[in-house]
Amino acid sequence: MNHLSAVKHVIIVLSGKGGVGKSTIAVQIALGLHAAGKKVGLLDVDLCGPSIPKMFNLEGRDIHQCPEGWLPVYVDKEQRIGVMSIGFLLEDLNDAVVWRGPKKNAMIKQFLSDVYWQDLDYLIIDTPPGTSDEHITVMEALRAYNPDGAILVTTPQAVAVGDVRRELTFCHKTGIPVVGIVENMSGYVCPHCSECTNIFSKGGGRALAQQNNVPFLGSIPIDRHLTLSVDTGKNFLESNPGSPALTAIDHMVKKL
Ligand code: ADP
Repeated sequence: MNHLSAVKHVIIVLSGKGGVGKSTIAVQIALGLHAAGKKVGLLDVDLCGPSIPKMFNLEGRDIHQCPEGWLPVYVDKEQRIGVMSIGFLLEDLNDAVVWRGPKKNAMIKQFLSDVYWQDLDYLIIDTPPGTSDEHITVMEALRAYNPDGAILVTTPQAVAVGDVRRELTFCHKTGIPVVGIVENMSGYVCPHCSECTNIFSKGGGRALAQQNNVPFLGSIPIDRHLTLSVDTGKNFLESNPGSPALTAIDHMVKKL
């Protein structure tokens, strides 16, 4: 089966550390592209921490099979955002996936080959943090399909940015282009006085992009409505017009 050949653009979302907002950004990219009229798939290969079903309020949904393969779970009635995640295969999302590398790699390969996405404009792939076996499996499997490349998500502080530097090296070594770097949790704008506090410092992601000559896709501020939307599976882009985080997400998506 070769369902990925019907996908126009493939983007992999990477981060050096957990908790920097990688899955959040993957979801916002999918929603932003959908809002721009694109048909989007989101593949969650973070097998040990699948958070995408919750972020779309799709917990408890089942995967169905058709003659062509697994059908994604659709977020909307029009079937323009499809999601595939190991979370749909677990009886309970709180179950731990205790698998060794080969089993995880086999599952990822199956996700990449057997999901019947149909004609997608964009497939966004959310990965586990770091650079592990799973990433190598994804990169190797995708190379034949000329993916657009990887988006690297970081928070602004030096420790997180250092990890993203390693992600950049990983992309170069595996031959995957870098679409760009996103600096997430970049300052907090007070909703009362509009003053911006740089809780996790500022500018590390932009500086890293400049140093390495890769595109900078933007700085997304901390926004408690974004946390809330992600926790409850609401569409942040529809429910928070005009917020600084939404504007930044909008600019990021336009650069893809
Ligand atoms: P990762 O995938 O890197 O582990 P997540 O996407 O799961 O990180 O995000 C971790 C937490 O941070 C989530 O609760 C999410 O809602 C929150 N979060 C991410 N980005 C932002 C942001 N810009 N503003 C507010 N909360 C955010």
